[in-house]
Amino acid sequence: MLIIDGKKVSLDLKNELKASVESCKAITGKVPGLTIIIVGQDPASQAYVRNKAKTCKEIGMISSLIEMPAETTQELLLQTIHELNNDPAVHGILVQQPLPEHIDEFTVTLAINPSKDVDGLHPENLGRLVMGDLDKCFISCTPYGIMELLQRYTIETKGKHCVIVGRSNIVGKPMANLMLQKLGSANCTVTICHSATNNLPFHTRQADILIVAVGKAQLITADMVKPGAVVIDVGNNRIEDPAAKSGYRMVGDVDFDAVSSVASAMTPVPGGVGPMTIAMLLKNTLLSFQRFNGL
Ligand code: NDP
Repeated sequence: MLIIDGKKVSLDLKNELKASVESCKAITGKVPGLTIIIVGQDPASQAYVRNKAKTCKEIGMISSLIEMPAETTQELLLQTIHELNNDPAVHGILVQQPLPEHIDEFTVTLAINPSKDVDGLHPENLGRLVMGDLDKCFISCTPYGIMELLQRYTIETKGKHCVIVGRSNIVGKPMANLMLQKLGSANCTVTICHSATNNLPFHTRQADILIVAVGKAQLITADMVKPGAVVIDVGNNRIEDPAAKSGYRMVGDVDFDAVSSVASAMTPVPGGVGPMTIAMLLKNTLLSFQRFNGL
């Protein structure tokens, strides 16, 4: 079974992006800038954003982190986004979710200039993606990373049946719409499953390409997978493990050990989809810079 190594591909991609940032700098004298806003003290979110900002600097981009207290008003957050929308040194704006309950996430997403929405969550970007206008939109980073993995591992997709489990706006829905596009690296017949799907194993067993984004540890077992299928595991779940120093370990939505005896190719957790998400955020920021500068 082939391991689809997201860690390795993301490192290759970061090296390519670093070279592109250098050539952008040589041409324009400027570098791409990403600003990340975090509201509140959630430790997991803080670790994510610090990692994003650090990786951004590693490849030569400018990254700024705006840390706002949990009691920040929605009005102040919107005003901050408005200022970033008008700042020519900022090419990408990312507001880390989840936000505190008194702030409406959709209102915040709508406030971001779609041309700087490197998370690909603004309805204009999602709408363009659905319409296949991929050159003018930002593709949500996790689905974009999965497309990159499928391409770099030359996984055949045309005419294949792709089954996606999960219909979130950030993963499942954009993923389904990408796999549906009439493109070399897509062009699939697509089925989307969710919590109300009857007989989930029946659907997953039809998949030539199975993409799982649910958030339930090891939901997909070997009997749910067609022999020879390509399996992409987006899930990121913490489970108790007394043998681990920390007392826990991360697993995906797929039972890796069991399914690896059935699948032809698979992403591991960790080291599969996760590292690609950050790499694609940087790729989107570079893309934004290139569009703003007519490159
Ligand atoms: P959401 O909670 O937003 O969506 C989960 C989806 O799974 C929903 O559509 C839900 O259905 C569906 N679902 C829940 N239970 C079942 C079930 N028993 N059978 C079938 N479908 C089910 O999650 P996200 O999409 O944001 O994330 C999914 C997972 O991916 C999480 O573990 C998350 O941590 C991980 N993730 C990883 C990323 C990475 O970079 N590696 C990035 C983003 C997410 P319904 O719509 O009916 O509620």
